[in-house]
Amino acid sequence: MKHRIVVLGAGYAGAFSAGYLARQLHSDDFEITVVNAEPDFVERLRNHQLAAGQELRHRPLAEVFAGTGIRLRVARVTDVDVEHRTVTVSDGAGIDRLGYDTLLYTLGSTAADHRVPGVDEYAFHVATRPSALRLRARLDELGEGGHVLVVGGNLTAIEAATEIAESRPGLRVGLVTRGELGGWLGPKARRHLLRAFDRFDITVHEHTAVERVEASAAISADGTVFAADATVWAAGFAVHPIAAASGLAVQPNGQITVDRQMRSVSHPDVYVAGDSVFVIGENGLPLPMSCASAGFTSQQATAAIIGDRTGRKIKATSLAYVGNHISLGRKDAIFQLVDGDARAKSGALCGRTAARVKSAILTTAAWTLSHPTFGRPNHRYRLATTREPSFDVVAA
Ligand SMILES: Cc1cc2nc3c(=O)[nH]c(=O)nc-3n(C[C@H](O)[C@H](O)[C@H](O)COP(=O)(O)OP(=O)(O)OC[C@H]3O[C@@H](n4cnc5c(N)ncnc54)[C@H](O)[C@@H]3O)c2cc1C
Repeated sequence: MKHRIVVLGAGYAGAFSAGYLARQLHSDDFEITVVNAEPDFVERLRNHQLAAGQELRHRPLAEVFAGTGIRLRVARVTDVDVEHRTVTVSDGAGIDRLGYDTLLYTLGSTAADHRVPGVDEYAFHVATRPSALRLRARLDELGEGGHVLVVGGNLTAIEAATEIAESRPGLRVGLVTRGELGGWLGPKARRHLLRAFDRFDITVHEHTAVERVEASAAISADGTVFAADATVWAAGFAVHPIAAASGLAVQPNGQITVDRQMRSVSHPDVYVAGDSVFVIGENGLPLPMSCASAGFTSQQATAAIIGDRTGRKIKATSLAYVGNHISLGRKDAIFQLVDGDARAKSGALCGRTAARVKSAILTTAAWTLSHPTFGRPNHRYRLATTREPSFDVVAA
């Protein structure tokens, strides 16, 4: 019987990892199955563009994985039983259970509602494609002068507000944040950000915490009512509760605790990458949820899976956090580098060049993920029968 590797999620971390494993592992010994809720690879970094009304390229996973030997199961994961090594999935045909020998957990994250009443019922978000499409449909309904209120002052809020303002100039866009808009940015980047918000005519309310969302308004702690035909909740990401419910060791925020090789500290046949993983980066701080982190943790997790299962030495991947690339519509962006303490450096790349660089990075990432084996699967590494995982470096 082949060794069964099941990859949960085919986003940035899962699609990359599955492709890399298929490229390296011998198909006589390993069977790789990917489970994903959506039939397409979703370029999540462009969800705000989708919500704003732009057409994005479809990348069906069946085509992405064609010829790789990877089995694709389009279904929703509802439960992971780490003791019996099974995953429960549900699709239009019903409920099914998949067995695994090695699990790679990359289910990503969704919008964090911070338990604010009304967010689930009335607010929109851009953390997933279905939710971005719901927001898009709502924006389509709004007439000239319709109010859109974005809640949050960080990366996703900035990208959502500017994208909507640029793509839908007839709407009135406002942003409410409990802190300062882009307050963590260096002085050059922050000046650029505020100029961009002025240019887009986005009204900003800082130091204002939203405590309740209603059908046509958001209410702040001091009782101020912000009229909104669409409230866009962009106040951070939270991981899915599936991991915590499964009995895997997790952090208080639900991210799975792993060793330096991305193995669950409680269940070492479970590896984790992307937004779902809690790991300390090179700077001594938790690695932020980001596409770059998804890349680094996927590289480390796949190296560990290959090492543990085939007896090869596991190379350490650097878990670096170098900065943020923030789009401000399609023609403007900010690339803010950070220092070793994750503090913004004073300089930044801003403007059209930053936008071009970001666009090139996104296009390259999507192309790479859409060509998992680059047409040349190696299938080199065979299953080893003896080697046990080595618990050499433990993070956190
Ligand atoms: C609008 C927006 C803009 C962003 N911009 C940037 C940026 O500029 N730079 C940056 O570094 N990061 C950005 N991010 C963050 C980045 O998208 C994430 O950090 C990254 O996608 C994490 O990769 P992942 O593979 O862990 O998760 P995802 O890419 O979200 O992949 C998770 C996959 O799991 C699937 N899934 C989830 N739940 C289930 C389930 N129960 N059953 C089956 N399948 C499931 C999903 O459909 C998805 O395919 C942005 C995020 C958003 C929402």
